[in-house]
Amino acid sequence: MRFLIVHIFILVICLPLSASTLGKVNKSADFNQFVEQNLNKGYTGLVNIVDSLFELNTVDSKLLSDLQNKIDSFYTFFYHSKINEKLPAEGLYENWNTKFSQPYDVNKMPHDSTFVLPLVEKGWMCNFVVPVKGEIISPYGWRGNRMHRGVDIKLNIGDPVVCSFKGVVRYAKDAPGFGLTVIVRHHNGLETIYSHLSKMSVEPGDFVEPGQLIGLGGNSGRTTTSHLHYEIRFKGIAFDPQSFIDFKNNTLRFEILQLQKSSFALVPFLPNQKVHKIKNGDTVESLAKQYNVSATQICNWNAVRRDQTFVTGEVIRVSE
Ligand SMILES: [Zn+2]
Repeated sequence: MRFLIVHIFILVICLPLSASTLGKVNKSADFNQFVEQNLNKGYTGLVNIVDSLFELNTVDSKLLSDLQNKIDSFYTFFYHSKINEKLPAEGLYENWNTKFSQPYDVNKMPHDSTFVLPLVEKGWMCNFVVPVKGEIISPYGWRGNRMHRGVDIKLNIGDPVVCSFKGVVRYAKDAPGFGLTVIVRHHNGLETIYSHLSKMSVEPGDFVEPGQLIGLGGNSGRTTTSHLHYEIRFKGIAFDPQSFIDFKNNTLRFEILQLQKSSFALVPFLPNQKVHKIKNGDTVESLAKQYNVSATQICNWNAVRRDQTFVTGEVIRVSE
């Protein structure tokens, strides 16, 4: 993390400081307000604050620790995992369980929690690779009365299935219904799940790279055709992989993923995507009408049922 602070300092020193930037702060009250405004503006806000530190005679240690925490919250996953952690995203999870596919207490995650996960770390080998190139034959969303919590990608038995991000294999077992299943935990806190394999090539504890073979495609478990059931979870809660992966071009759609926990699910909020803050009386049908989308889309994007009762003030996704 120190590296990042130093990096920002160097960046700032090297940049010509414009008069307008320097004119932003002068008095201590103004400065506090300035920090307040910039602390939650992401990377640019942090650079603005560090930039303005040059104008102070003394720098408050509380401010430095606040800054440190903010920077940590953006970059925790990659840096800490590489420098301090034995296992990926250790600080985010209460346990490392190789026996159960979902060993986490999802109720521990408070509603309205927001998580910002970097998907790509420039300068580090943290790229993304689709597990198998193929057609999506069944998306994330409701299948009648049951929620399908991953995407199904068509493949032929024996096709290689590879790991999406760098990480460590947490689970490799025959899971009821899902057949031979591999789960990998990644440094950004995500877990990826690969099911219905015909053969597994890794074991729990194995370090894996993006693009590394983890098994062969198949139809083990409950399936009607050979495919890969590919799921993405954060702290035990699945969300739509297509929200940030472009399976047509086999690339990521964004470099940073923001997730928000609502009372019903974990919802990804992405650049240019409309969200709605729930008001008293809002229903799935009324929101579908208001935003000119289908009720099914609202249900699938947010993992809610048609008759969902919303909690006022929560935000939900209402656009493609
Ligand atoms: Zn599936």
